[in-house]
Amino acid sequence: MKPPAFAYHAPPDLDTAVDLLAELGEDGKVLAGGQSLVPMMNLRLATPAALVDISRLGELGDLEVADDAVTLGAGVTSERLRTDDTATAAIPLLRQALDHVAHPVIRNRGTAVGSLVHADPAAELPAVLALLDGSVVLRSRDGTRRVVGSELFLGPLESDVRPEELATEVVFPIPPARTGTAFHELARRHGDYALAGVAVRVGLDADLRIDTARAAFIGVADRPVVIDVGAALAGQHHDALDTADAVGHARARLDPRDDIHATGAYRRHLAGVLLGRALEEAARRAATTDPTTPTAEEAT
Ligand SMILES: Cc1cc2nc3c(=O)[nH]c(=O)nc-3n(C[C@H](O)[C@H](O)[C@H](O)COP(=O)(O)OP(=O)(O)OC[C@H]3O[C@@H](n4cnc5c(N)ncnc54)[C@H](O)[C@@H]3O)c2cc1C
Repeated sequence: MKPPAFAYHAPPDLDTAVDLLAELGEDGKVLAGGQSLVPMMNLRLATPAALVDISRLGELGDLEVADDAVTLGAGVTSERLRTDDTATAAIPLLRQALDHVAHPVIRNRGTAVGSLVHADPAAELPAVLALLDGSVVLRSRDGTRRVVGSELFLGPLESDVRPEELATEVVFPIPPARTGTAFHELARRHGDYALAGVAVRVGLDADLRIDTARAAFIGVADRPVVIDVGAALAGQHHDALDTADAVGHARARLDPRDDIHATGAYRRHLAGVLLGRALEEAARRAATTDPTTPTAEEAT
């Protein structure tokens, strides 16, 4: 399959890229790694008149780890992030999630920011962004604005990024100490999009009992679904969790549709099974994080 004819622009810098997007409006599309956009063009599901290639803009290649956040530019590939020991030590959930994303060849070109803007409801990184309360910075000729994860995803393959906007970076806040995370999913083949999956974060108190617990599900709705399951687990010891109430609470709030891959009922059941496993793993991990670092509560 070949895409329809399109104009190709390779701007030399960010300002020129933003100007081009303003001039092209609805006719233009950003090309990052091309791992989602090019297949869609080949299948004629996307027919932009012009592409603005940002893959060679060095200005978008930064990956910074500060005390409170991991920030990466729109040029950082999923594989670079997955294999960055500093970033993934600060936020282990990044690697836990990216281990499930596609294959090395695709991760070597596909960008983390591109995955967020693309907003596939079965993609892993959107759930991570929503769960960590991260945000994306969008730049246009009119200036910049920041969109938080809970507001970025509007529907399947639809994010709150306007045609004239370029997503320049994503910020993932670093969770406080005594937080553990896990990402569990089921895909028919390794590297395929998941039938369902879940990212969880569990926070423990000083006695290593559950203080907070949240989950972000993928593959069960038209965007990531974040559910607070803390009340169903509060006070339980980290290594003797009874997750039944949390699983029931989450299942009652999920209503996946039937499709050619699975029934909605199967997906809801699966989501609960994955949640139970992920909570147990995250709680174990939370107990082994450095307890000398204050929790968010202690720090304020
Ligand atoms: C076989 C296969 C399997 C895959 N499996 C998975 C999987 O299991 N999990 C998963 O999460 N993903 C999967 N992917 C998708 C892959 O992760 C993509 O790389 C990613 O979704 C998009 O990143 P990209 O840089 O390639 O974006 P592109 O394909 O270049 O762009 C995607 C969309 O985002 C827009 N865009 C990109 N960057 C910006 C920006 N900075 N500002 C504004 N708009 C932007 C583009 O205009 C386009 O609409 C798979 C892809 C393939 C081909």
